[in-house]
Amino acid sequence: MIQDIYPKVYHNEYQDTKPEENDFILVFHKNTALVRFREGKLRYPTLKEMGGFPCDYYYLFSIDNYKYFLAHPAEGWKRNESGEIVSGFSHDEPAIILEGYRYENVSIFRTADSRHTAFAGITAHHLFGWYQTNQFCGRCGRKMKPDHKERMLFCPGCHNMVYPRISPAVIVGVLNGDKILMSKYAGRSYTNYALIAGFTEIGESAEQTVAREVMEEVGLKVKNIRYYKSQPWAFSGSLLMGFFCDLDGDDQIRLDTSELAEAGWYSRDEISLENDNVSLTREMIMMFKEGKIKGTLR
Ligand SMILES: [Zn+2]
Repeated sequence: MIQDIYPKVYHNEYQDTKPEENDFILVFHKNTALVRFREGKLRYPTLKEMGGFPCDYYYLFSIDNYKYFLAHPAEGWKRNESGEIVSGFSHDEPAIILEGYRYENVSIFRTADSRHTAFAGITAHHLFGWYQTNQFCGRCGRKMKPDHKERMLFCPGCHNMVYPRISPAVIVGVLNGDKILMSKYAGRSYTNYALIAGFTEIGESAEQTVAREVMEEVGLKVKNIRYYKSQPWAFSGSLLMGFFCDLDGDDQIRLDTSELAEAGWYSRDEISLENDNVSLTREMIMMFKEGKIKGTLR
């Protein structure tokens, strides 16, 4: 899966530290990241390459001994096309332009090489979104400040504390004997078969989310809900939790057409998908296809 970067090791422990010359700097503008490709491999600028641009740098994480920082351009400054730093920061265009680098949509991180560099990029983008949307206190409107002991933003006025936001969601493999329920989303660019999925609502357990989402999307009752694995999925700001479960009773699908374009029961030999080593959804479908996961009924 996307987070499996072995033998590289992702270190998420917070450090109160400043970037050095060769540390990597992640620069984002909306849904794009400042990158270059060298011999097909994804690269980020180093602090040295940032050329003294006026920025705040937030420590993100390390992979092996390499540190990654997020650049937050100082308001009121940007680099013009000839590389000079001039006043005139605008939220509509990127503040930082570096020779040899270009802004690419973060969707490239799904498949870009190397795997650990791509995982760093999408994880950094999740944190960027959190820093961006929490620049001001949601309670009193003052400017938030980063804490130095942990990854937290606090309001000097009303002492509001804000921690990184992760939205838990479930992926569900519904089993009906030797068949699995697969579906296609309505109105999305992703057109491959998927499993039932949805965000956990306030006031429910992950298992209750499983039962509710299956009922809402395909009108089926389920039982024997069992946890499989989880996955950080920064593209939607989520922690995905995978579950398998068995159909309980009637197998007649009643499709919620606002969410799904189609859904049906598929046996192992009807599944033509291959493992993409990226998503939990795909791994769960492969586990079923290869007979490693079986329905407990019939
Ligand atoms: Zn406040």
